[in-house]
Amino acid sequence: MTDLYPAPDASPIDPAVEAALQASREARTESLLEFARIPSISALPEHAADMVTAAEWVAGRLRRVGATDVEVAPTALHPIVYGRIHEAPGAPTVLVYCHYDVQPVDPIDLWETSPFDPFVRDGRFIGRGVADDKGQLVMHLAALEALRTAGKAPAVNLTFVFEGEEEYGSDSLYAWIEDNRERLAADVAVISDTGYFEGNLPAITVALRGIMYAQIDVVLSPVDLHSGMYGGTVDNPANALARIIAALKGADGRVRIPGFYDDVVPLTDAEREAMAALPFDEEAYRAEIPVPALVGEAGWTTLERRTSRPTLDVNGMWSGFQGEGAKTIIPAHAHAKISTRLVANQDPKRIFEGLKAFVAEVSPPGVVVTTRYIHGGEPSLTPTEHPATQAAARAIEAVYGAPPVYIREGGSIPVTSAFDHTLGLPVVLLGFTQPSCNAHAPNEWLLVENFEQGTRVIVRLWDELGALERA
Ligand SMILES: [Zn+2]
Repeated sequence: MTDLYPAPDASPIDPAVEAALQASREARTESLLEFARIPSISALPEHAADMVTAAEWVAGRLRRVGATDVEVAPTALHPIVYGRIHEAPGAPTVLVYCHYDVQPVDPIDLWETSPFDPFVRDGRFIGRGVADDKGQLVMHLAALEALRTAGKAPAVNLTFVFEGEEEYGSDSLYAWIEDNRERLAADVAVISDTGYFEGNLPAITVALRGIMYAQIDVVLSPVDLHSGMYGGTVDNPANALARIIAALKGADGRVRIPGFYDDVVPLTDAEREAMAALPFDEEAYRAEIPVPALVGEAGWTTLERRTSRPTLDVNGMWSGFQGEGAKTIIPAHAHAKISTRLVANQDPKRIFEGLKAFVAEVSPPGVVVTTRYIHGGEPSLTPTEHPATQAAARAIEAVYGAPPVYIREGGSIPVTSAFDHTLGLPVVLLGFTQPSCNAHAPNEWLLVENFEQGTRVIVRLWDELGALERA
């Protein structure tokens, strides 16, 4: 891989900051390697001390770039690193989020080297966390270091939240955000924990799906009944559950719960056109899974179904006898885990109420059916034309020489809905990893070129946002 980062005379950023970046390239590389050597696996209790080490490392770097109020804030589990650089009176305030925890490393034998002995080879960082999300966190720190070396302050006010439980459910984050609302007051949030759509094509993620997860329990009797003695006289919970589930979604892929689609923000024609223009190979997508055929809601493309339409799925179901051979019973009970993936502006609680009412309506009288809420997360959407999204697009275009594509993701990033719904902030999802970067898998990698570009996009973004009028 050739060195593609811009030469100083073609700088899309302040020349003094570019010069600082040129001069500190080795130190910046070493900084990421040093950070990635800390095995901050949030899911494993034996790494609790490493989590603190990683949090302190981040806090130390924040202090080094002149952040104030730097704190390694304790939570019920892993600490949250907080800090701020508010040196631009009257300019917008940006809440910056990345996470310092990483996924476990198994299967360890598929790693070429030790996951926490990261290195650079053929223009790539390789090691656990170099892409998700330590590399992106270090891009933010590196951008600040270069600004400081050039004797400058960011053109916006920055408030940093670096989380340690992203890979473990973010449980502590919500309460912490609630408790720290004033300290988190901002005009916009920038989350760097996403990536490109395909290959080396920069992207801004404008929407994420939410989720509503529930369980349906169908009960007939305290114990299994003899199917010879009782068969034909009582309902069967497994049959009843099958009928209930069949009622939830049609063969056309449409969810039958009344009102399910009421709050869906429709895709505009322009958005559908832009999505159709994305380089997406449907057959490759199918073959990679692999499944016999792709199916989904009628009237929508595969990419639209995957990212921009809500859906409902059975995640698991169980009932009765499951051993070898035969056992002639009518099961006492049957159960199903059901989840819906939601899009803006569907509300998980409201969707649950709809599900519950509909299940009650279609439940037969011979069994007792209950529907309970397990968990939920709100979808999020920041329109492409939002000034903050457009500022990010200009920053990307300046650095890459090409505009980003706008994408939607089918999954969720819990912090996004917390910033969006709890703090009421528009969210810009600005990430610099490639889809094939092996996040969560062995031999995770990040292109050094993307690390360099990302750092410059961030430098430029603060200028672009600083030039905006405060909302
Ligand atoms: Zn991540």
